[in-house]
Amino acid sequence: MTIELSSARIEALVEQWRSESAEPICAYVYDLQALHRHVRRMRELLPEGCELYYAAKANAEPPVLRTLAPWVDGFEAASGGELRWLHQHQPGQPLLFGGPGKLDSELAQAVALPNCSLHVESLGELERLARIAAQAQRSVPVFLRMNIAVPGIGDTRLMMGGKPTPFGMDEHDLPQALAFLREHPVLRLEGFHFHLMSHQRDADMQLQLVEAYLDTLARWQREHGVEARVLNAGGGFGVDYAEPAASFDWARFCHGLRALLARRGPSPRLRFEPGRYVSVSCGWYVMEVLDIKRSHGQYFAVARGGTHHFRTPPAQGHDHPFRVLRGARPAQLKDEQVTLVGQLCTPKDVLAREQPIEALAVGDCLLFPLAGAYAWNISHQNFLMHPAPRMAFLEAGEQGDLAEMRAA
Ligand SMILES: *Cc1c(COP(=O)(O)O)cnc(C)c1O
Repeated sequence: MTIELSSARIEALVEQWRSESAEPICAYVYDLQALHRHVRRMRELLPEGCELYYAAKANAEPPVLRTLAPWVDGFEAASGGELRWLHQHQPGQPLLFGGPGKLDSELAQAVALPNCSLHVESLGELERLARIAAQAQRSVPVFLRMNIAVPGIGDTRLMMGGKPTPFGMDEHDLPQALAFLREHPVLRLEGFHFHLMSHQRDADMQLQLVEAYLDTLARWQREHGVEARVLNAGGGFGVDYAEPAASFDWARFCHGLRALLARRGPSPRLRFEPGRYVSVSCGWYVMEVLDIKRSHGQYFAVARGGTHHFRTPPAQGHDHPFRVLRGARPAQLKDEQVTLVGQLCTPKDVLAREQPIEALAVGDCLLFPLAGAYAWNISHQNFLMHPAPRMAFLEAGEQGDLAEMRAA
């Protein structure tokens, strides 16, 4: 099982919009039925006893959270703002609060929540948290986020562990952290948190990484007498934007995980907290072509919207894949290389460069898939004061037909 895409429901909605108004289209469409199918499959494949959290920074739109909620064990927040948002939209769901640079006020906010564990990123943060928890007279579940080197695993460009970063503590600091925790029982050590890889597309490599984490915890138990109840092995499961089927193979990973856990015997409970891999495939960014022009020998299609709505292509440094949904007009160009741009007055507003296109006319729509994670919410939305895109959430209707729900 990996990433699957179907644009049929998106195309049907765009056709409906076209019949209703002549205003050029610019929209995000989220297919909640596809999201539901995907997360349910992820859950079903995960071995029993393993936990699935969703990293809300990938996409925290309330309908997305609502669709995921029945299938996840909880949500991960990376700021006080996300924590408040998650508590408001998914009250009662278990929460994890991680990330560097937490304010005292944010720590206090997390401590006051009944169902929130904290991922502690430094010794200084541990001390502040102990003080705040003692003041609030609350026992707080904590994880130590560790930055360890795992030699020989994966593409080193994707590996954040074992290098200087603002994330987590060095192994060198562990004895001091454990001594501090023994003196401050108001903090309950639940386990350790690792998030060392991003864009990991190799399931076998990820299994080796999980095994290395388990070995590390076993060693820490021998060396420091520390017992971890839970191992949070992070997120970072990778998506291949150019070839979605070559994305991380969740089925293969879960199959291997089952075998690994059976082989090792009693282990800490495993927890994962992916973002991108969960929500990326439910979102589509749709732009209507406003102008087609030739500039110094190259074709450009200028479409409504741009990277101020959809920063993913420049953020990833790639040409984003797309599909053309032809409108009523005869083709203005055929079998040409076309660069797809938005409405911004900057040459950086490019979504895909010199792409082969069979046929294109003004009024056609460009459908960009894989826009459900790190897309709208990472974009510089106010730049040039263009209006926001239309936001649509496609539910599964009563008889399986389309029902559009506007964002709250
Ligand atoms: C961003 C982040 C995640 C989610 O990463 P994805 O690549 O979206 O899966 C999980 N854990 C932590 C600590 C993160 O910072």
